[in-house]
Amino acid sequence: MAKKTRRQLLRTECEHLCRDIVFERDGHRCVRCGATTRTAAKLDWSHLIRRSRCTRLICDPDNSVVHCRDCHYFHGANEGMSMLQIAVLRPAQCLRLVEKYDQSVRESNKNSGYVPISFWEEQLERLKDLTT
Ligand SMILES: [Zn+2]
Repeated sequence: MAKKTRRQLLRTECEHLCRDIVFERDGHRCVRCGATTRTAAKLDWSHLIRRSRCTRLICDPDNSVVHCRDCHYFHGANEGMSMLQIAVLRPAQCLRLVEKYDQSVRESNKNSGYVPISFWEEQLERLKDLTT
């Protein structure tokens, strides 16, 4: 197996940390139906703006919630309605997310979509700050 690059290692570390932060924040409970690991087969780290659409927001806690598997599928299949529900439940989080999305689109256009390694280093520091 190929050795992971520093960029991949940083991103993986950010992903694990962000997932932990979001599960802790959401109380290990699906934000849509309230399911826990006792009542649902599995709880997922679910992205509001999908990963493929915005690399810079993959590891931002404002861009993810805990969903049970069923609600995660619902989110994927009914993105608009699901986003509306989350915006009602979490207005402050969604307002920050909208601002961050606008910012990352501007950055992405400026850098032709390239995410520099310094971004991941800074993101890791931001996430670590959230856990202390
Ligand atoms: Zn659910």
